[in-house]
Amino acid sequence: MISVDVRSKSYGDVPVLQDIQFDVEQGQTVAILGPSGIGKSTLLRLIAGIDPKFEGTVSRPKNMAIVFQEPTLLLWRSVFDNIQLIHPELSESAVREALSEVGLADKADLFPGQLSLGQQRRLSLARGFAGNPDLLIMDEPFVSLDEKTADEMLTLTERLISKTQPATIFVTHDTTEAARLATQILTLDGQPATLKIKETLK
Ligand code: ADP
Ligand code: MG
Repeated sequence: MISVDVRSKSYGDVPVLQDIQFDVEQGQTVAILGPSGIGKSTLLRLIAGIDPKFEGTVSRPKNMAIVFQEPTLLLWRSVFDNIQLIHPELSESAVREALSEVGLADKADLFPGQLSLGQQRRLSLARGFAGNPDLLIMDEPFVSLDEKTADEMLTLTERLISKTQPATIFVTHDTTEAARLATQILTLDGQPATLKIKETLK
């Protein structure tokens, strides 16, 4: 289980987050919604442990994967290596299986720069899921994709989540996306925030 208790987070003298408390169980998906600049990415960094400078506590499992808004791929390594270097414990066939799950089976020897943006996003997703994470964190994973590609990514993500059953926390500004993937919604609006069940969104 993931337990988030953020009392306060500031950048210098500027307060960003206050009183945010929630728990996430395995298999649950929390969508964090809110306007630009409200602190969604900041909250994800606190949850992931990337930024330890805040008041409060977060307990998280060790096996965690993060999928960023822009694919953070190793451009000078092959598609295959982009998964295997992050997951050295995986066999060659497990890496190929992870690529095949996202429709990139025949791209293993290419470099990321030779993939379309949608394919790069799929590679990021494959890399995230390849280690069977207990916690999956995604920051606007479907932005700046055309509608069809975004829809394919959503379907793929739904499938990988239901297969892997991590606790998932993801940021979006799209209520349709949130309604489709999330079991719970956390809305940031500058006030203390707690989880609401998904039905309140619709
Ligand atoms: P969101 O993801 O909701 O758009 P962010 O978490 O990126 O919001 O940012 C929240 C606020 O904190 C913004 O005002 C942003 O400018 C500020 N901020 C984000 N990162 C930093 C940083 N490293 N240093 C100072 N201010 C920051
Ligand atoms: Mg952000």
